[in-house]
Amino acid sequence: MIAQVEPLTTTRRLSGPFDYALPAEPVEVGSVVRVPFGHQALDGVVVGLRSESELPAERLVAPSAVRADSVPRDLVELALWMARESASTPARALSLVLPPAGKPRMRLWARRTAASLDGERLSERQRALLDRLPGAAGEDLGSLRRLEKRGLVAIEARAERREPLTRPPVDRAVEPTAAQAAALEAVDAGGEHLLHGVTGSGKTEVYLRAAARALERGEGVIVLVPEIALTPQTVGRFQARFGDTVALLHSALGEGERYDEWRRLRTGEARIAVGPRSAVFAPVARLGLVVVDEEHDASYKHEGDPRYDARRVAAERAARSGAALLVGSATPRPETWHALPRLELRERADGRPLPPVRVLDMRGTAHPLHPDTRRELGEARKAIVLLNRRGWSNFLTCRTCGKVWECPQCDVALVLHRAQAAIACHHCGHRERVPDRCDACGSLAVARYGAGTERIEAELNEALEVPVFRLDADTAGTKNAVPDLLARFDAAPSGLLLGTQMVAKGHDFPDVTLGVVLDADSTLRFPDFRAEERTFALIAQLAGRAGRGPRGGHVLVQTASPDAPAILAAARHDSAGFVAGELGRREALRYPPFADLVRIVCLAEDARAARAAAGRVGDGIQVPGTDVLGPAPLFRLRGRERFQVVVKTTEREAAISAVSSAVEGAARDREFRHVAFSVDVDPQ
Ligand code: ADP
Ligand code: ZN
Ligand code: ZN
Repeated sequence: MIAQVEPLTTTRRLSGPFDYALPAEPVEVGSVVRVPFGHQALDGVVVGLRSESELPAERLVAPSAVRADSVPRDLVELALWMARESASTPARALSLVLPPAGKPRMRLWARRTAASLDGERLSERQRALLDRLPGAAGEDLGSLRRLEKRGLVAIEARAERREPLTRPPVDRAVEPTAAQAAALEAVDAGGEHLLHGVTGSGKTEVYLRAAARALERGEGVIVLVPEIALTPQTVGRFQARFGDTVALLHSALGEGERYDEWRRLRTGEARIAVGPRSAVFAPVARLGLVVVDEEHDASYKHEGDPRYDARRVAAERAARSGAALLVGSATPRPETWHALPRLELRERADGRPLPPVRVLDMRGTAHPLHPDTRRELGEARKAIVLLNRRGWSNFLTCRTCGKVWECPQCDVALVLHRAQAAIACHHCGHRERVPDRCDACGSLAVARYGAGTERIEAELNEALEVPVFRLDADTAGTKNAVPDLLARFDAAPSGLLLGTQMVAKGHDFPDVTLGVVLDADSTLRFPDFRAEERTFALIAQLAGRAGRGPRGGHVLVQTASPDAPAILAAARHDSAGFVAGELGRREALRYPPFADLVRIVCLAEDARAARAAAGRVGDGIQVPGTDVLGPAPLFRLRGRERFQVVVKTTEREAAISAVSSAVEGAARDREFRHVAFSVDVDPQ
């Protein structure tokens, strides 16, 4: 027998698997091994076992080590599928399903043996000690060892869980409504479902009950949520209801905690995995249910290589294991709406109406706050304000000569951050001091344009009595900064939560009576076919944060495009209407879900090389039903010139495989050895 091993290298220039002799330890598909590879030693994953190799036996070497933890076989297969599906490599895809680094923490654990205590001479202390068992040996190890010698106690090393610190809320038992009961019944029957329910309609309660039923059937569950720091409530509710059966797979876990949670799932000690996108690779056996909460959330798309979409992987994994798939949102993506049968929760669980939304026309208004917004913010005790742009002002320009301050690495404008006295690039992090004069012409007239969260915070602090809590990438720095800030806002008797799209996530603050969206059309201006979808979801989600308590609430939306369909539909909380219009538009333009897109970006310091590589890749893709657009230049990023080719196809599989070979071919060509290639199937 020989083992076929995929060495975990990131290069596209090699394609495995490679044959190795069997080591002394047993290996199976999914074993993680250390293998000699060229002049180095690499980790690798066993992807197959064969009776013989095409290579002569004397040329085969054996792995030098086998890790104790292995990847479940179904995840090896899922990774290989993902490598094809995302035009990546098996090695890169396999590295996503590896057991996390780490070791169990061992503790000595003591328990009574079956030996009778009759006739044993024991002191008070010894009796008390025996009474507290089973338990950790701890300080009593010496005394316990003596009892062990007498055969009364057994001591062994046990893995002990390093438990992630969380604050689960109290679980509320509720009777399902008729709509929830109907949804549950449909999920129980298996298959794929979209749970479309307005914010606060009780979707989470459906997930919880569907999970409980899967457990009763002896099946495991995966629950995907957007970033946990922003939505601790959903995770907390799973922990409150299911306790230690829940394993939390959170990016902010320490190495030891992450290892323990993975291990608890792998051994079956925990049966429900809850976490952000990478939890789709949780080692859950006998998978019966996969839940994707807030399925519209952009964080489900991974921006590294492979650029996988956790929603697509979730659907594939559910289908392969015969598990039910339940994806939920108040603002589902048009693709999902089009693809899945729908379960509807039309009303909020508490029977309260959704907050009314008023659109404020900002054309002709110079100030970033409309007078009505100003007045209402002054009257509200608690409000949430969304402005999807951080910093003080968007760009600086010289009034005399017109110079715009740009990033030397990226060809984008630098954004003023006044608190740090810096202008910064939001793409690469480049910073420089705020200029007091123009270095091109010497003029002192440097003007600041536009308003970001930092500037609005200063204005609101001046205008309002209540404290302002700012939530954006600048204030979210450390691990606990976001949960702490949200908890302080929640506890404050009055206050204003101001921030970027982070404030529109699934927060539940019952005393927020006012929601405000500033510059609602900022996302509409992006040259991207998803601009409408994003704008709609952002406004509708923010609107869902207001009026969740007995005092009700309402929402103001400031925009310079008061007639934009996405904004009008969001103001009516009308997902169905929005999606219908959007699907019509996409069908006419041949955008997803009516065609698939693949984006290939070629990056190099030298613009000519990047362009030539993109041209080569584009020429290599010849598939019927497929348009190849480009090469088109993108703005320079981190000092690298970029050219992209976009493939629009109705022959998904053939097109993806043509892209893979075209990219591999170009990557192997010496002419393009300084060019990097990035492939994005289903770009966001
Ligand atoms: P969603 O996930 O759709 O935003 P949640 O599941 O968080 O909604 O429910 C919103 C609120 O309504 C929660 O406080 C929840 O406890 C409550 N709730 C959910 N279902 C019911 C029900 N059947 N009866 C009463 N309250 C419910
Ligand atoms: Zn100037
Ligand atoms: Zn930059």
